[in-house]
Amino acid sequence: MEEESAKSPTSIPSAHQHHHLQQQQQLHPPIPPSRYESQKRRDWNTFGQYLRNQRPPVPLSHCTFNHVIDFLRYLDQFGKTKVHLHGCMFYGQAETPAPCSCPLRQAWGSLDALIGRLRAAYEENGGSPETNPFARSAIRVYLREVKECQAKARGIPYKKKKKMATVMSSTRNDEQSSSSSSTHLS
Ligand SMILES: [Zn+2]
Repeated sequence: MEEESAKSPTSIPSAHQHHHLQQQQQLHPPIPPSRYESQKRRDWNTFGQYLRNQRPPVPLSHCTFNHVIDFLRYLDQFGKTKVHLHGCMFYGQAETPAPCSCPLRQAWGSLDALIGRLRAAYEENGGSPETNPFARSAIRVYLREVKECQAKARGIPYKKKKKMATVMSSTRNDEQSSSSSSTHLS
Protein backbone atom coordinates (compact mmCIF):
# COMPACT_ATOMS: atom_id res chain seq x y z
CA MET A 1 0.00 0.00 0.00
CA GLU A 2 2.87 2.38 0.76
CA GLU A 3 4.00 1.83 -2.84
CA GLU A 4 1.17 4.09 -3.92
CA SER A 5 2.69 7.17 -2.30
CA ALA A 6 5.89 6.63 -4.28
CA LYS A 7 3.95 7.55 -7.40
CA SER A 8 3.24 11.06 -6.11
CA PRO A 9 4.81 13.93 -8.12
CA THR A 10 8.53 14.41 -7.54
CA SER A 11 8.06 18.19 -7.20
CA ILE A 12 7.13 17.75 -3.54
CA PRO A 13 10.13 18.60 -1.32
CA SER A 14 11.50 15.58 0.46
CA ALA A 15 10.94 17.02 3.93
CA HIS A 16 7.32 17.50 3.02
CA GLN A 17 7.10 13.94 1.74
CA HIS A 18 8.45 12.61 4.99
CA HIS A 19 5.82 14.53 6.90
CA HIS A 20 3.22 13.07 4.55
CA LEU A 21 4.29 9.52 5.24
CA GLN A 22 4.04 9.99 8.97
CA GLN A 23 0.56 11.35 8.59
CA GLN A 24 -0.44 8.40 6.44
CA GLN A 25 0.79 5.94 9.01
CA GLN A 26 -1.28 7.63 11.67
CA LEU A 27 -4.33 7.36 9.46
CA HIS A 28 -4.12 3.55 9.51
CA PRO A 29 -4.68 2.38 13.08
CA PRO A 30 -4.95 -1.40 13.55
CA ILE A 31 -8.40 -2.50 12.44
CA PRO A 32 -10.20 -4.81 14.88
CA PRO A 33 -10.77 -8.16 13.16
CA SER A 34 -14.31 -8.37 11.84
CA ARG A 35 -16.18 -11.50 10.84
CA TYR A 36 -15.31 -10.67 7.25
CA GLU A 37 -11.63 -10.37 8.13
CA SER A 38 -11.45 -13.68 9.94
CA GLN A 39 -13.41 -15.41 7.21
CA LYS A 40 -11.02 -13.94 4.68
CA ARG A 41 -8.04 -15.22 6.66
CA ARG A 42 -9.56 -18.69 6.84
CA ASP A 43 -10.27 -18.69 3.11
CA TRP A 44 -6.74 -17.57 2.37
CA ASN A 45 -5.29 -20.35 4.55
CA THR A 46 -7.52 -22.93 2.88
CA PHE A 47 -6.42 -21.79 -0.54
CA GLY A 48 -2.75 -21.84 0.49
CA GLN A 49 -3.18 -25.35 1.81
CA TYR A 50 -4.86 -26.39 -1.42
CA LEU A 51 -1.88 -25.12 -3.44
CA ARG A 52 0.58 -26.90 -1.17
CA ASN A 53 -1.36 -30.15 -1.52
CA GLN A 54 -1.04 -30.16 -5.30
CA ARG A 55 1.35 -32.65 -6.89
CA PRO A 56 3.76 -30.97 -7.29
CA PRO A 57 2.95 -28.12 -4.85
CA VAL A 58 2.17 -24.81 -6.55
CA PRO A 59 4.01 -21.75 -5.21
CA LEU A 60 1.73 -18.74 -4.91
CA SER A 61 3.83 -16.88 -7.48
CA HIS A 62 2.96 -19.58 -10.05
CA CYS A 63 -0.72 -19.60 -9.22
CA THR A 64 -2.92 -18.81 -12.20
CA PHE A 65 -6.66 -18.45 -12.71
CA ASN A 66 -6.69 -22.13 -13.70
CA HIS A 67 -5.66 -23.10 -10.19
CA VAL A 68 -8.38 -20.84 -8.84
CA ILE A 69 -11.04 -22.47 -11.01
CA ASP A 70 -9.78 -25.93 -10.04
CA PHE A 71 -10.02 -24.83 -6.43
CA LEU A 72 -13.65 -23.76 -6.90
CA ARG A 73 -14.46 -27.13 -8.49
CA TYR A 74 -12.69 -28.90 -5.66
CA LEU A 75 -14.86 -27.05 -3.14
CA ASP A 76 -18.02 -28.41 -4.77
CA GLN A 77 -17.62 -31.68 -2.91
CA PHE A 78 -18.28 -29.77 0.32
CA GLY A 79 -21.30 -27.96 -1.15
CA LYS A 80 -24.81 -28.14 0.26
CA THR A 81 -26.80 -26.86 -2.67
CA LYS A 82 -28.62 -29.45 -4.76
CA VAL A 83 -28.11 -28.69 -8.44
CA HIS A 84 -30.19 -30.92 -10.69
CA LEU A 85 -28.68 -32.39 -13.82
CA HIS A 86 -30.39 -32.17 -17.19
CA GLY A 87 -31.79 -35.69 -17.02
CA CYS A 88 -33.31 -35.30 -13.56
CA MET A 89 -37.10 -35.06 -13.31
CA PHE A 90 -36.72 -32.21 -10.82
CA TYR A 91 -34.57 -30.14 -13.14
CA GLY A 92 -35.84 -26.57 -13.00
CA GLN A 93 -37.52 -26.97 -9.60
CA ALA A 94 -36.28 -25.05 -6.60
CA GLU A 95 -37.76 -27.62 -4.20
CA THR A 96 -36.84 -31.28 -4.42
CA PRO A 97 -39.98 -33.27 -3.48
CA ALA A 98 -38.14 -36.60 -3.39
CA PRO A 99 -34.50 -37.67 -3.15
CA CYS A 100 -32.55 -37.72 -6.37
CA SER A 101 -28.97 -38.58 -7.16
CA CYS A 102 -27.94 -35.14 -8.42
CA PRO A 103 -24.80 -33.70 -6.86
CA LEU A 104 -24.54 -31.10 -4.13
CA ARG A 105 -22.57 -28.04 -5.14
CA GLN A 106 -21.35 -24.77 -3.74
CA ALA A 107 -23.98 -22.13 -4.34
CA TRP A 108 -22.96 -19.50 -6.85
CA GLY A 109 -23.32 -16.69 -4.31
CA SER A 110 -20.89 -18.38 -1.90
CA LEU A 111 -18.28 -18.79 -4.62
CA ASP A 112 -18.70 -15.20 -5.70
CA ALA A 113 -18.19 -13.93 -2.15
CA LEU A 114 -15.25 -16.27 -1.67
CA ILE A 115 -13.50 -14.95 -4.78
CA GLY A 116 -14.00 -11.40 -3.52
CA ARG A 117 -12.32 -12.23 -0.21
CA LEU A 118 -9.47 -14.14 -1.82
CA ARG A 119 -8.86 -11.37 -4.32
CA ALA A 120 -8.42 -8.90 -1.47
CA ALA A 121 -6.30 -11.34 0.54
CA TYR A 122 -3.96 -11.96 -2.39
CA GLU A 123 -3.04 -8.28 -2.60
CA GLU A 124 -2.82 -7.90 1.16
CA ASN A 125 -0.33 -10.75 1.19
CA GLY A 126 2.01 -9.02 -1.22
CA GLY A 127 0.53 -10.03 -4.57
CA SER A 128 0.31 -7.29 -7.16
CA PRO A 129 -3.04 -6.32 -8.69
CA GLU A 130 -1.60 -6.97 -12.17
CA THR A 131 -0.95 -10.65 -11.46
CA ASN A 132 -3.94 -11.24 -9.20
CA PRO A 133 -5.38 -14.52 -10.53
CA PHE A 134 -8.66 -13.89 -8.67
CA ALA A 135 -9.24 -10.72 -10.65
CA ARG A 136 -8.95 -12.38 -14.07
CA SER A 137 -11.92 -12.18 -16.39
CA ALA A 138 -11.84 -15.96 -16.79
CA ILE A 139 -12.97 -16.24 -13.17
CA ARG A 140 -15.85 -13.87 -13.82
CA VAL A 141 -16.84 -15.90 -16.87
CA TYR A 142 -16.68 -19.12 -14.86
CA LEU A 143 -18.81 -17.67 -12.06
CA ARG A 144 -21.36 -16.38 -14.55
CA GLU A 145 -21.64 -19.85 -16.08
CA VAL A 146 -22.12 -21.41 -12.66
CA LYS A 147 -24.76 -18.83 -11.84
CA GLU A 148 -26.71 -19.44 -15.04
CA CYS A 149 -26.43 -23.18 -14.73
CA GLN A 150 -27.68 -23.14 -11.15
CA ALA A 151 -30.44 -20.67 -11.94
CA LYS A 152 -31.78 -23.00 -14.64
CA ALA A 153 -31.37 -26.17 -12.66
CA ARG A 154 -33.12 -24.72 -9.65
CA GLY A 155 -35.90 -23.01 -11.56
CA ILE A 156 -34.99 -19.43 -10.80
CA PRO A 157 -36.94 -17.59 -13.47
CA TYR A 158 -34.41 -15.67 -15.44
CA LYS A 159 -33.07 -16.90 -18.71
CA LYS A 160 -29.76 -16.48 -20.44
CA LYS A 161 -31.27 -14.71 -23.46
CA LYS A 162 -32.64 -11.98 -21.20
CA LYS A 163 -29.95 -9.39 -20.64
CA MET A 164 -31.01 -8.84 -17.02
CA ALA A 165 -28.98 -11.54 -15.31
CA THR A 166 -25.84 -10.84 -17.33
CA VAL A 167 -26.09 -7.08 -16.94
CA MET A 168 -26.66 -7.38 -13.23
CA SER A 169 -23.74 -9.68 -12.69
CA SER A 170 -21.35 -7.69 -14.84
CA THR A 171 -22.28 -4.42 -13.16
CA ARG A 172 -21.66 -6.07 -9.85
CA ASN A 173 -18.29 -7.36 -10.94
CA ASP A 174 -17.29 -4.03 -12.44
CA GLU A 175 -18.06 -2.35 -9.18
CA GLN A 176 -15.97 -4.89 -7.37
CA SER A 177 -12.99 -4.65 -9.67
CA SER A 178 -13.01 -0.86 -9.96
CA SER A 179 -13.15 -0.26 -6.25
CA SER A 180 -9.79 -0.90 -4.67
CA SER A 181 -9.28 -3.63 -2.14
CA SER A 182 -8.78 -1.13 0.65
CA THR A 183 -12.20 0.39 0.07
CA HIS A 184 -13.64 -3.07 0.30
CA LEU A 185 -12.09 -3.79 3.63
CA SER A 186 -13.35 -0.83 5.53
ZN1 LIG B 1 -32.00 -34.05 -9.26
